[in-house]
Amino acid sequence: MFENKDKTPLSELGEFGLIDHLTQHFKPQRSSSIKSIGDDAAILDFKENQTLVSTDLLIEGVHFDLSYVPLKHLGYKAVMVNLSDIYAMNAEPTQITVSIAVSNRFGLEALEELYKGIHLACKKYKVDLIGGDTTSSQTGLIISVTAIGKAAHGKAIKRDTANEGDLVVVTGDIGAAYLGLQILEREKAVFKVNPNSQPDLDSYSYLLERQLKPEARNDIKMLLEALEVHPTSMIDISDGLSSEILHICKQSCKGVYIYEDKIPLDPSVIATCEEFKLDSTTVALSGGEDYELLFTIKQEDYPKIKANPNLTVIGHMAPENEGVHLITRAGTKIGLKAQGWNHMES
Ligand code: ADP
Ligand code: MG
Repeated sequence: MFENKDKTPLSELGEFGLIDHLTQHFKPQRSSSIKSIGDDAAILDFKENQTLVSTDLLIEGVHFDLSYVPLKHLGYKAVMVNLSDIYAMNAEPTQITVSIAVSNRFGLEALEELYKGIHLACKKYKVDLIGGDTTSSQTGLIISVTAIGKAAHGKAIKRDTANEGDLVVVTGDIGAAYLGLQILEREKAVFKVNPNSQPDLDSYSYLLERQLKPEARNDIKMLLEALEVHPTSMIDISDGLSSEILHICKQSCKGVYIYEDKIPLDPSVIATCEEFKLDSTTVALSGGEDYELLFTIKQEDYPKIKANPNLTVIGHMAPENEGVHLITRAGTKIGLKAQGWNHMES
């Protein structure tokens, strides 16, 4: 796909020329970035705040497929995935590092696209690119992003602090990103058979956007502050609702009841599930990559959030010995399992 005449071999620039070229437009936006790219290490100063660090590794063929993911989107998403982890601690991301391993299949123009996406994400979310590493790989592309963030003492929210009786809240709606992937996979299969087919993807635009250009929930921390709600535990939904709920339950030593009819679904998720003959609840529970936040709050905080269209109560925490259950629309109780995406399988 990069075999065009605009493919400048990376060897023409050399390692340092390449790093300079790719990072030239990144200007520090944070006063905590004391020394950015260009030395042996970056220097940060968070003064009285606590520092948070989170890393993700993305491997071509395992986490992304370049036959339908544009490199600019990939760069943007690689950053989003990491920022989401910092927001999921009720903290504010401030810097990132980006490390890449690239094969000679990629020319300069391809990496420019990747860094355009990274740049856009940095500008929009006000985080600084402060370093990374660049090396070669035998075949595919590997990207590792580390996000660094800050939180005032005592403000970071963990997974292991949910209490019995707390309400379980989810932001936005879920399941759309998984369906976006199903559509891309379907179009790829169609394209293989008939390269001249012109897919009409308009009716799937929300689903595709959720898969290809996810946005991390940078608005929730401020919203909760304005509502004067301090969640008791928090996690982001990267692997599917089911698996994230199980993390909170396991780490907090609690059980939970989730109500099927409360799970927030976009109308296009319901329509597309019908078309693909998929169960929308299964998609919401087991699909991944929504990057919404899941958190628990004290029951007494319910009046503060109940009118907010961004927040939906989907259940409540219970004693550990009651287990982790979904109450279906028919009122049946079924055990929840982590069917989220297990990258170790397949
Ligand atoms: P070192 O030899 O000390 O590891 P490098 O030559 O790898 O240093 O990197 C030089 C500078 O460029 C460092 O500040 C490093 O953090 C930064 N850097 C290297 N690769 C990348 C990259 N892919 N994206 C952003 N910054 C990078
Ligand atoms: Mg290095």
